Amino acid sequence: MKPSVLVVEDEGALVTLLRYNLEREGYRVLEAQDGEEALLVAAEEKLDLVLLDWMLPQLSGIEVCRRLRGRQETRNVPIIMLTARGEETDRIRGLDTGADDYLTKPFSMTELMARLRAVMRRIRPGLAEDTITVGDIEMDRAAHRVRRAAKEVHLGPTEYKLLDHLIQHPGRVFSREQLLDAVWGSDVYVEARTVDVHVGRLRKALSVEGTGDPIRTVRSAGYALEDSVVPAPV
Ligand code: CA
Repeated sequence: MKPSVLVVEDEGALVTLLRYNLEREGYRVLEAQDGEEALLVAAEEKLDLVLLDWMLPQLSGIEVCRRLRGRQETRNVPIIMLTARGEETDRIRGLDTGADDYLTKPFSMTELMARLRAVMRRIRPGLAEDTITVGDIEMDRAAHRVRRAAKEVHLGPTEYKLLDHLIQHPGRVFSREQLLDAVWGSDVYVEARTVDVHVGRLRKALSVEGTGDPIRTVRSAGYALEDSVVPAPV
């Protein structure tokens, strides 16, 4: 899944430029031209990061930042503030806005992308990377493709999400409840046994000829993706 970035900016030319560069980096881009719109989008969409301009019509960027921080669903979403050169930067730094980072206009796209990657890495290791490789499993999240031992693997949406979660923490054991929360969401009622069914399907899909079982079952504890996949005995 592509990480979603909400761009809150009223300068059309800058939005176009940001969209172009963010999409090229593999992000899904959402736009808002003012603070009110930003809050509406944030209430409807799952956001991974917000690029927030300080000078906005009506609600200021600072106020939008405060309101996003005050809401349960956006409390922990990283926010990078965009500011004009001058005293604003000092004012912002002096304020406890809850922003994760600041960039002063004009900034280079290279610099912005580097900051963005740093923030994403800190918040969600693995998410900012387009391709993750663990053992002989390769997950290309921009293209939504999985390969094992260089062979294409076809996964259903749930199996894809399961692998996406496991591959970000190779070797770590997750309980069925933890996997339910991560893949199905904590507000959905699904029986723990459902996890076993989908892990079974994921295993089957990943069983490419000449490879071993990449998923370790830990009795009464849960499942883990092996951080080094042992080849199958010949
Ligand atoms: Ca502006």
